[in-house]
Amino acid sequence: MVMQVQDRLGRPLRDLRISVTDRCNFRCTYCMPKEVFGPDHRFLPRDQLLGFEEMVTVVRAFVERGVTKVRITGGEPLLRKGIEKLVGMVAAIDGVEDLTLTTNGSLLARKAEALAAAGLRRVTVSLDALDDPTFMAMNDVGFPVSAVLEAIDAAAAAGLGPVKVNCVVKRGVNEHAVLDMARHFRGTGHIVRFIEFMDVGSTNGWRMDDVLPASEILETIHREFPLVEIPPNYPGEVATRYRYADGAGEIGVIASVTRPFCGTCTRARVSAEGVLYTCLFAVAGTDLRGPLRAGEDVGEIIDRVWASRADRYSEIRTANTPRRRIPVEMSYIGG
Ligand code: SAM
Ligand code: SF4
Ligand code: SF4
Repeated sequence: MVMQVQDRLGRPLRDLRISVTDRCNFRCTYCMPKEVFGPDHRFLPRDQLLGFEEMVTVVRAFVERGVTKVRITGGEPLLRKGIEKLVGMVAAIDGVEDLTLTTNGSLLARKAEALAAAGLRRVTVSLDALDDPTFMAMNDVGFPVSAVLEAIDAAAAAGLGPVKVNCVVKRGVNEHAVLDMARHFRGTGHIVRFIEFMDVGSTNGWRMDDVLPASEILETIHREFPLVEIPPNYPGEVATRYRYADGAGEIGVIASVTRPFCGTCTRARVSAEGVLYTCLFAVAGTDLRGPLRAGEDVGEIIDRVWASRADRYSEIRTANTPRRRIPVEMSYIGG
C-alpha cells in the first residue's frame, strides 16, 4: 500500500536517485577535479557501501511512500560490480514504473545488452562535446568522443533508446558544443539535454560567469534550427522541452541556475553509503545504513525526514553570495 507523504511545502515524494558508488573513471573538471580527486583521494571503503539487498529495502520503502521513478547513478554506476544484478532486483520491485541509469558511457557498449536484459528500459549518457580536444579536456582522462557515441548506438541497439544525452555547458569551455550536439543528434531520436553548469559541491570552482544561461543556449540553437516549446511529460520534469519546428526531434534544457524548479522538486537522493539527502545542495543528510543494519524500519525515518523538508536552494541562491557551508559533492550524491 502506498502512503503518500508531503514535505513542508506540499511537495510529494515521487523520484529517487540512488548512487551506487562514489568512484569514477573520469575526472570531469566540473565534478571531480583532479586536484581534489587525485591518487591520494580516499573513496568509500567497500563495507561502507550499501549492499544490493540493502538498496532494495531502501527502494521498497520509498516506493511505499509514493516513489515511482528510480534513477541509478554514481560516481560512475557501471563501475559497481554486478550492476546488472542490482538493476534486475530494482526492476522487479512492484511499483517501480520507471527505472533509468545515468552513465558516462565508458563501459556502456559492453554492458548495454545485459542491462536491458535485466530490466533497464532507458539510459542517460553524458557527453559534453563532439570534438576530442574539448571533450578530453573536460573529462580530463583523455576519453574519446567516438567511444561514447558507440555506447549510445549500443544502448539504442539493446533497446535502451531513445537515449537522453546530458551535456553540461560551461561558458568559454564548450559553448561551441551546443550547435554541434544539436546538429549531430537531430533526426536520431535521441534527446540532448543541455544543463547549466551548477554550483554543486565546493570543489569545482563555480562562478556565475561560467554559467551559459539556458536562454542563450536556446537562442543559439533557435537561430539555426527553429524550436517550439512543448509541455512537460509529467509534472515536475526537470528539463524544459522543445521540439524542432521541422520535426527533427526534441531537446531539453535544465536551467537549474537561471530558472530554478524547486517548487515541483519531488526528488530524494540516497548516497552510495546510504545517506538520505532531500536536496542536491544539501549540507547534511540522514543516515539510513546504520538503522538498516540495526534492523530498524527506514520507512519511518524517510517519513520524518520528508515531512520536515523545506529545501529550495536554487530559488534562494544568489549569484555572488559567498559560500558559508560545505555542501556534498556531485560525484558523491550523483546528480
Ligand atoms: N558518472 C555518471 C555521468 O557522468 O553520467 C553519473 C553521475 S554524474 C554526477 C550525473 C550528471 O551530473 C552527469 O550528466 C553530469 O554531467 C552532471 N553534472 C556533474 N557535475 C555537474 C555540475 N557541476 N553542473 C551540472 N551538471 C553536473
Ligand atoms: Fe564522473 Fe560523472 Fe562526475 Fe564526470 S560527471 S566525473 S563521469 S561522476
Ligand atoms: Fe530540488 Fe534542491 Fe534542486 Fe531545488 S535546489 S530543485 S529543492 S534539489
